[in-house]
Amino acid sequence: MIIRGKVVGSEIPRFKHRWFGILEVEAKGERYKLYMSGVAQWLITGDEVEIHIKNKPKKGNVLDFDDYELYKFYEGEKIKVWPLWEKKYEVKRFSPLTGELLYIYRIKAREATYESDFEAIAELEQYHYASQKERVALWRCENGHTFEANTKQTCPVCGNEKVHILEIKGSTPASRFLILELENREEYEPRILAYVRVDPPIPLMHRRLPNGEIEKNIREKVFPEEWFKPSFWPERIMKELYEELKKKYPRKVARSMLWEKAKWQALRESNTAGARIARVVVHPD
Ligand SMILES: [Zn+2]
Repeated sequence: MIIRGKVVGSEIPRFKHRWFGILEVEAKGERYKLYMSGVAQWLITGDEVEIHIKNKPKKGNVLDFDDYELYKFYEGEKIKVWPLWEKKYEVKRFSPLTGELLYIYRIKAREATYESDFEAIAELEQYHYASQKERVALWRCENGHTFEANTKQTCPVCGNEKVHILEIKGSTPASRFLILELENREEYEPRILAYVRVDPPIPLMHRRLPNGEIEKNIREKVFPEEWFKPSFWPERIMKELYEELKKKYPRKVARSMLWEKAKWQALRESNTAGARIARVVVHPD
């Protein structure tokens, strides 16, 4: 069944984690709750969408991860939003002696979706040279304590074992993660072989001229403007918002409201055709 509708509701419940968000869509007088990953944060109230329902909605008009496809209409184009992108590959290994086919690795390249994907990314991140001293991820226990750690562990504050990954440090709310997943793995082989982090915007870019001079900020000369503007830039928005909030609220409250507001506004405004590959980490084995 195909239905057309509009994104409704407020932004806050839309994004719970990178690995979970709920998108509310109103269609034909009914309100559907679409469970998806954190990409739900990219959709804006009022967006026109099309839902292809594959499995009957559950109680409360809930459509779970595998129950639907979602398309968004953007400048006259229909763009697939859910399920997230994936592509399968086969890598064949031949015997160096006989040329005989020894085995085939079946690899799925896809956007990180599930909580376990982000846990695997945190694990891979430990192999990154820059992170030997730093803790790589933020975690939160179900009692609400936030702490830094490299791997999933019990909460150091209250000992709670129910702990969820909150954020990969160094990423921005606009970051997207692609992973390579090994589908036919042996016990001793890793499930996630590698990941790539993609961030907007394209960096400013400098270049050295033949005479040794450095020419700065040539991005504008290389790429058309819509490739990097408007980019994700919460710092600028924060400055503007802070001045406004200060007039209405005590300084401390204004500051705490700031990041959340700036983040959402930055995500709204960010709309770039280009992005940069900010990180590639491959499993050392
Ligand atoms: Zn705790």
